[in-house]
Amino acid sequence: MGKKRCTAVVLAAGRGSRMGSGVAKQYMLLRGRPLIWYALHAVEESSVIDDCILVTGAEDISYVKEEIVAKYGFSKVTAVVAGGKERYDSVYNGLLAVGNGAARDGDNLYAPVHDGCIFIQDGARPFLTEEILKRCYEAVERDHACVVGMPVKDTVKIVDESGFASRTPDRNFIWQVQTPQVFDAPLILSAYERLMREKERLLRDGISITDDAMVVETFTDCKVRLVEGSYSNMKVTTPEDMTVAEALLERQRKEGGGF
Ligand code: C5P
Repeated sequence: MGKKRCTAVVLAAGRGSRMGSGVAKQYMLLRGRPLIWYALHAVEESSVIDDCILVTGAEDISYVKEEIVAKYGFSKVTAVVAGGKERYDSVYNGLLAVGNGAARDGDNLYAPVHDGCIFIQDGARPFLTEEILKRCYEAVERDHACVVGMPVKDTVKIVDESGFASRTPDRNFIWQVQTPQVFDAPLILSAYERLMREKERLLRDGISITDDAMVVETFTDCKVRLVEGSYSNMKVTTPEDMTVAEALLERQRKEGGGF
């Protein structure tokens, strides 16, 4: 069997309000390059990913096309589309772009809805690697749905409404989830269609959708496989995270594997 076509949906439509800066966090400079550059670079260099839909704020589309995609020569980015209010709205817009054939195979429109895989990646995670992408591809080929994560290092407590510990789950079974989150295209498209139809009800029931695996877990029978990521595969959210990310990049550079 040949390799399945793999489309990355890279998310950069968050407002980054926890960063507390004037510039949206995805464009803040990390060792001289915009934060979003790192995930796009991993996608561009990857033997796994064929093309990429970049999701950004509606008002940033032309800036991103010129100052990120054209400037750095990200040739796999076939469309830059507007995101939405919540992360899941942005993912859905990216998926619609894939479904509408925005991902192209040369001059041919590509219909990935039938046999491709979709890699959903937070643009705010600069430490995506080829090894992680390959592990995801192997897992999604076998299991149809997978998410990258790592077992937690700290003990986790379930806390009651009064702030007292009510349970201490076995931490061997607790993983922190990262991205990419990777799915067969038809599976994730249909799960998100259901989410969009039923999201008012979920909101009323107080259920918040915080990752893509949860959409598949809620609306399909497919089980989601956990794939080992790395403890470095962090999301940059606050100013402290920028400092940590810079230090990690510096270590990689010294070890000869970084930028
Ligand atoms: O807000 P959070 O840090 O969880 O965002 C994770 C990723 O999702 C970021 O790369 C962010 O830009 C993206 N996002 C988005 N649209 C939103 C919210 C977040 O594309 N409405």
